Amino acid sequence: MKKWMQKFLNQFGLDSPAGQLTEERATIIYMIDTYNRHLIELDSSPVRKVREILDEFSKELIHADDEKIEKVLFRFRQYFASYRIEEYSYIQKTFDDFRGIIWDFVDQLAEDFCNGRKEDLVMQKSLEDLRETVEANSIEVLKTQAREFIDKYVELQSRKEKRKIQHVDRIKKNLDTVKRKLNEVAEAVNIDHLTKAFNRKAFDEQIKKQRNLVEISRKPASLVMIDIDHFKKINDSYGHTIGDFVIQQCVNTTVKLFNRDSDFVARIGGEEFAILLPETTSRQAAERAERLLQEIRREAFVQDGHMIRFTISIGIAQTQAQESVEGWIKRADAALYDSKTNGRNRLTVSGLSSLREEVA
Ligand code: GH3
Ligand code: MG
Ligand code: MG
Repeated sequence: MKKWMQKFLNQFGLDSPAGQLTEERATIIYMIDTYNRHLIELDSSPVRKVREILDEFSKELIHADDEKIEKVLFRFRQYFASYRIEEYSYIQKTFDDFRGIIWDFVDQLAEDFCNGRKEDLVMQKSLEDLRETVEANSIEVLKTQAREFIDKYVELQSRKEKRKIQHVDRIKKNLDTVKRKLNEVAEAVNIDHLTKAFNRKAFDEQIKKQRNLVEISRKPASLVMIDIDHFKKINDSYGHTIGDFVIQQCVNTTVKLFNRDSDFVARIGGEEFAILLPETTSRQAAERAERLLQEIRREAFVQDGHMIRFTISIGIAQTQAQESVEGWIKRADAALYDSKTNGRNRLTVSGLSSLREEVA
């Protein structure tokens, strides 16, 4: 059995391979899982809710016999299609809001130009009248006309000045709104909505940057991988909402201890997190991670009348010369796997078996 298929069976609580889990079904589940990791928060469909529904479909895909599978797939297709429409409308609406701001701005600008032109025409007419009076040679009429012209001119100039100030003010307000919207969008793209930690996408980008930096600076960097132990049991015993709460608390405690400006904390999966530590050896990373292990072990989190305790497992790898990003992640993952198989609630440092005993 392929490793990833086995992983799914474990995830859905199936210890032995189910007879009906063909490679085709496993592939669909794999795709659902990938989609699950990249959901966006919609007002009409919160990520948590969609995730629950998709998890449910995955379970049904595993258990349904050949007769039922058609129906499950049909319902799945229907749900997926309607969800995609919601996603599309959300993106369309956000885009429309943005377009609205630009549209108002352009509209306003056109109106200003038009007003300016009308006033210029009035002035041109007054000027022509004045010229005619000069030619007519009547001093009295010329005096009144000239005064009227000057008054009009001064009034027009002050009106223009006022409009210019309003105009600049409006441009500034519009630009501020556009800037704020763009910032919000840029942030949302990199932030995990549940925990406010960086998300998988931001992590993938950051680790590449970090790897390049190590190559240039020749300074060490460490990667800490964290996975909550027996998280499925927390979900099963208390429900997904409390499961989400535990994920948030795990990040809060992590961020409390990994609070240096250069510490990069990300949620890279459901209950999996990664910390990038620049200029940190694996030994230093292990000392800090050990404090995190202790803090989480010690804390009791209270929510909806439940007192919840949990533990985490950690894998640490310091990047090696010429190593690829994938290789680095793989070693941290393998160390985390060692922590899991050696009893959980501990940390393992890649390539440092003595330290494992020391700090575990
Ligand atoms: P282990 O000690 O081996 O890590 O056991 P585990 O139960 O933590 O194992 P596993 O990683 O297989 O289970 C993770 C579960 O987390 C499965 C999935 O349904 C659930 N999950 C994934 N994302 C979320 C989420 O955002 N919220 C909640 N509440 N549950 C989630
Ligand atoms: Mg886990
Ligand atoms: Mg996990």
